[in-house]
Amino acid sequence: MKVTDLPIPAPLKQSYTTKGIKSLYPPQEEAVRCGIFEGKNLLCAIPTASGKTIVAEMVMHRQVEDGGKCLYIVPLKALASEKYEDFSEKGLSVGVATGDLDRRDAYLGRNDIIVATSEKVDSLLRNKAPWLGEITLLVVDECHLVGSEDRGATLEMVIAKLRRRNPEMQVIALSATVGNPGALAGWLDAELVTSEWRPVDLREGVYWQGAVHFEDYTREVPKPSKDDDLNLCLDTIDEGGQCLVFVNSRRNAEAFAKRAASKLKVSDPTLESAAERIEKRASTEMGRTLARCVKGGAAFHHAGLAAAERHEVEEGFRTGAIKVISSTPTLAAGLNLPARRVIVRDYLRFGQNGMARIPVGEYKQMAGRAGRPHLDPYGEAVLIAKREDACEDLFETYIAAPPEEVHSQCNAENALRSHILSLITTGFAKSRTEVLAFMETTFYAYEHQGRSSTIQETVERVVDDLVRAEMIDELDEWLEGTTYGNLVSRLYIDPRTAEAVVEALRLRPAYSDFGVLELLCETPDMLTLFLRKADYEVVDHFLAERRDELWTGVPYEYDEREHFLQSVKTAMLLLNWAEEVTDEMICERFNVGPGDIHNKVETAVWLLYATSRLAHLFAPDLERPIGELGTRVKHGIKRELLPLIKLRGIGRVRARRLFNAGLTTPEDIKNAGVRRLAPVLGEKTAASVIVQAGGTVEEREEVPDVETADEPIPKPPGEHQTSLSAFGGANHE
Ligand code: ADP
Repeated sequence: MKVTDLPIPAPLKQSYTTKGIKSLYPPQEEAVRCGIFEGKNLLCAIPTASGKTIVAEMVMHRQVEDGGKCLYIVPLKALASEKYEDFSEKGLSVGVATGDLDRRDAYLGRNDIIVATSEKVDSLLRNKAPWLGEITLLVVDECHLVGSEDRGATLEMVIAKLRRRNPEMQVIALSATVGNPGALAGWLDAELVTSEWRPVDLREGVYWQGAVHFEDYTREVPKPSKDDDLNLCLDTIDEGGQCLVFVNSRRNAEAFAKRAASKLKVSDPTLESAAERIEKRASTEMGRTLARCVKGGAAFHHAGLAAAERHEVEEGFRTGAIKVISSTPTLAAGLNLPARRVIVRDYLRFGQNGMARIPVGEYKQMAGRAGRPHLDPYGEAVLIAKREDACEDLFETYIAAPPEEVHSQCNAENALRSHILSLITTGFAKSRTEVLAFMETTFYAYEHQGRSSTIQETVERVVDDLVRAEMIDELDEWLEGTTYGNLVSRLYIDPRTAEAVVEALRLRPAYSDFGVLELLCETPDMLTLFLRKADYEVVDHFLAERRDELWTGVPYEYDEREHFLQSVKTAMLLLNWAEEVTDEMICERFNVGPGDIHNKVETAVWLLYATSRLAHLFAPDLERPIGELGTRVKHGIKRELLPLIKLRGIGRVRARRLFNAGLTTPEDIKNAGVRRLAPVLGEKTAASVIVQAGGTVEEREEVPDVETADEPIPKPPGEHQTSLSAFGGANHE
């Protein structure tokens, strides 16, 4: 099927032709035959890189041409930016919704395509963003995540709500790893395209003692080093390819990259300048290690990296300069970084129940990265067997096995509490009967058709609980959100978090930064740091001094106590950050990377904001100090810098510099004059802040040119935290 014959807008045809996309891949053809251009729903369950995104993109352009608007749901923020860049190139207006979780983001609705995570869409629904009613096409990328334990219920409810809201809306769901595509397609009233077809041949095998065993042949691997994993890389790099190596912890990723760099001995000016850039920005030992690895042609990748470091690694790999990346599974989750050989070195991973095998779906995600379309003659995915008898087992368990089936997570009481609250506060359901009727439209109900279901009991329990918590009023059979319940729903916090906060606020505690932060770290909305052995003593010592400031009780049960101590440790990190302790020191003290600091800060800022709004209702005198702590945590500053941080262009570094130069308020700045300020801020910023502070800049004065860029606050690694990053907080993900 030729691209020129498709019913898609001419500019898109042109863009495809320029990129060398002239005819459709077989699964894409099948999708067209299924009626995607006639508005049919589709589940496209085909391998990675077989052209799923383009199927969705063609329909999006067609819909926009017909006056429609498209919503594209991705699982990770990092993917949202990638899709944004990809889609923006082709003439339509694209918006990414990654902002605060309690906004309507009206401006977003002006775009033709809106890319967002499921959490963001959920919050937009709760905040009643009016443009959601205009969506004519919903694309759900990585739709197997409906089965994810921690986030699946949100995705499922979002799909169900949007379909209820816009009954005519077309749905296109995409996934490379669904074990039961028929069931998902059935729920979505969708046509189904499944296929094993790939643009690049994928060979999957198991390595054991010097050779990779594929189904029908064996490939010898030379042994220039004593390490099997490294030999597997060198083999591919020698023939002109690149490698991705998946390992199970951050430490392992870093150790492998170091070994690889020392063996590769690449010399490349591009790498040298990348390494210099990383080194220059590096605020931690990890950053400096990364710079050394990159110089040698290897890199590691995990959620502890700062955003700029991630970017360098990904770009270096895309251009072919970096030959090998060792990574925790973050990379497999969807970033488009294919390589000729993918090595799944660790198929065991430490999880909540100790060491366990990774799921088949996860293996398939990793293996699917093998083989760059148009660039590699083939792709290879290689598992490394730890024992001879593991060879056959690995073939059966991973290579020959289908990915896991996807099952609804909507019967979990904890997940449902938040979703049922939002159904009621947004008017989707006004009675218990209507809540149940809505639940009938979920995948959960579809999966349990004709079988006895416990959903009714769960719903009853959850509604009772929300009424008890005063988030919902029940009058006769009618349910209505209270002011408090409406706020909780819009703030997008777990009702259990809200309850814990309100319970503490009602006791009118004496204000304390530590008290608030520790309380928030105990809630289900914060993933706490792990405790290492050495941490117990430090945390105990800290507690001995500041126990009086706690807003919660100290538990004595072992499990609860462990969680409590983890919360104290996490609160300590946030306090350090708000006391202007350097990144380097925080990373060392807490055994984290800059990316982790950002994750914790981001979550804390959101929870502090929510807490200040709750304080407005329940303890108004505490609203202001909590709000101020939010600003301090956001910027990483002591209280004394609060007046300065209000000025645009002033971050934690510049504010500190101004303060130390004796300029402590906007009034001081207004009166200081460009000549005094420029050496601290640079001429342009100096002029801007003087004007902001109400002063005037009359003449241009000769001032020394100094480098004054504010140190960027670490950018997010891009994801919402997942349960994985609970372990990542120490050094896994
Ligand atoms: P997926 O979403 O399944 O991982 P993509 O749609 O991103 O796959 O496509 C993978 C790569 O293949 C992209 O670089 C894309 O431009 C290219 N591609 C997709 N469809 C075709 C086609 N019909 N002909 C040539 N290249 C294609």
